[in-house]
Amino acid sequence: MAANETDGRGTKSPGVRNKTLREQVFDHLREEILSSRLSPGQELNELALSAELEVSRGPIREALSKLASEGLVKVTPRRGAIVAELTDEEFIEAYQVREALETLAIRLAVPRIEAEEVDRLRELHEEMSEFVANDETTEFFDANAAFHQQIVDASKNAKLGEHYRLLMAQMGRYLPRSLTLRGTTDSSPDEHAAILAAIEAGDPDEAARLLANHIEIPQRIEAGEGELPQPALTAAEESEEQ
Ligand SMILES: [Zn+2]
Repeated sequence: MAANETDGRGTKSPGVRNKTLREQVFDHLREEILSSRLSPGQELNELALSAELEVSRGPIREALSKLASEGLVKVTPRRGAIVAELTDEEFIEAYQVREALETLAIRLAVPRIEAEEVDRLRELHEEMSEFVANDETTEFFDANAAFHQQIVDASKNAKLGEHYRLLMAQMGRYLPRSLTLRGTTDSSPDEHAAILAAIEAGDPDEAARLLANHIEIPQRIEAGEGELPQPALTAAEESEEQ
């Protein structure tokens, strides 16, 4: 196995030049997972990836272990590294943590939020209303993620921001662009408007209460009113296509 370590073919990938090779490999694999081009459950073979990306195995191994620490890759005894899957239970657990982190963030944010940050939230809110009206779901979800991220940023708590970023990376591919979630886009603008109003009124309790209600998917699922959103393309669907 060690023989391949010295395989120095193509130490440069085309395109990006101001990133190190290791960063490029990590960013590439991360993007492949987040975009579901690498499906949950799919095996990540070091040797195959090394050949495909034309890099030695060192950077691949390093990227896989970094992705494992972010929860995007799982290392299993039998199959080695695989793209992490979130079970229904794990998805609900992750949502509960998301709710806790965001409500903490908004409590911290309300007393210290800056005028420009409120402006940015309002801007995103207005954009989202248009996206909903035009049925532009992907754009809506991107703006929605930015809205929630702005609330977390406004908390000015770097540790909270770090946990939130990791959590959203793990959950990210299960959230948007899913037909089962489309229904939520209709009520979101009103809910965002109410959250925004509570922020502007300087009321952290009300803002946190409204935000918790807004992040209501786990409760709906527990009540049997909704289905868990699935990644854009599952492993099974992909093999059917081939
Ligand atoms: Zn939202």
